[in-house]
Amino acid sequence: MRIARFSVREGSPAAGSVSFGVVEGDPAQPDTVVVHGLAGHPIVSLQLSGESYRLQDIRLLSPILPNKVVAVGRNYAEHAAELGHQVPEVPLTFFKPSTSVIGPTEAIAYPPFSSDVQHEAELAVVIGRMGREVPVARASEVIFGYTCANDVTARDVQQREGQWARAKGFDTACPLGPWIETELDPSDLAITCTVNGELRQAGRTSQMVRSIAELIAHISEAMTLLPGDVILTGTPAGVGPVQVGDEVAVSVEGIGTLSNKVVKRG
Ligand code: ZN
Repeated sequence: MRIARFSVREGSPAAGSVSFGVVEGDPAQPDTVVVHGLAGHPIVSLQLSGESYRLQDIRLLSPILPNKVVAVGRNYAEHAAELGHQVPEVPLTFFKPSTSVIGPTEAIAYPPFSSDVQHEAELAVVIGRMGREVPVARASEVIFGYTCANDVTARDVQQREGQWARAKGFDTACPLGPWIETELDPSDLAITCTVNGELRQAGRTSQMVRSIAELIAHISEAMTLLPGDVILTGTPAGVGPVQVGDEVAVSVEGIGTLSNKVVKRG
């Protein structure tokens, strides 16, 4: 099942309200897609509100507002190598703040303190149940679903500052979407990134150094995972710069495409 979060476009009586919905139809043919509204939060219950919308009449928002986004660095060997690094002995983790999260119809705002902003296509895991010290064998029990993410990174700032908080945590640096797929085997999915339609990254989730279950166990050994939290699982090889005016699209097989324009920060 695909779960979206959306607002109804201006002009509608419901303008301004934000709802969750169940997405039905073929994402490749947007005019066939219908979103059935949900009465509450999908992690709590999947009760339909009785209202339905066509995709073109709503605005998709980030499918979840996480309490925290925990990201994993160098989890694909070829990507670690392209930046001159080894695969770390223990998973390399960092945070992206909740204020960096944007949805599929919002723009990445190029920060003025960087001149090398890069795309990183990633599979994102959305947590559905509180988890603390979750063993590998039970990791699937805390997963709600999966979405696409772009771990947007100011590479020059990352290299200059050592700590990654500003380089990967600036406003708009964490696009998520277009929706959460709750029924998906994430073990071997194609993951791609295009810039203005040109292929830049192409990998498979089977190339991850550490599996999603291992990442959940490792992270939850240190911190409690809450419903709605998001884990970014690393990027395959092919990262590179984006420029103001570009359209960056991350696709994960079985989920869909997350597309964001890059604009100058206003
Ligand atoms: Zn990343």
